[in-house]
Amino acid sequence: MPAVLTAASKLVCPHGFAMLATPGAALVTVDGAAVLVGADLLGATFACTASGPGIKPCTKVGSIDAGLAGTLRIRDEQAALATAFGTTDGTPPTPWHVTSAGQTKLEAT
Ligand SMILES: [Zn+2]
Repeated sequence: MPAVLTAASKLVCPHGFAMLATPGAALVTVDGAAVLVGADLLGATFACTASGPGIKPCTKVGSIDAGLAGTLRIRDEQAALATAFGTTDGTPPTPWHVTSAGQTKLEAT
């Protein structure tokens, strides 16, 4: 099973810059870091400074295409998993993704 994402997880935009997701609530924590849910990923910001011909830096998440837990919900929101990816408003349109879940104690599907 994939690990659940927390505030300590590392995510990157299509250009390799940090994607910053902030937990809206700390009801469930792993190693002291709050678990991330879908709404936290949708509200993520980017430290993206990509530039060049045909390149637009990412400023917000466009969608979550995979990686939300079907079995673990926190306040009616699906927990986010290490398998998560989706689109941003940047170009070229390749997915944001998780590079490190940051914890190995809590897994879900
Ligand atoms: Zn980017």
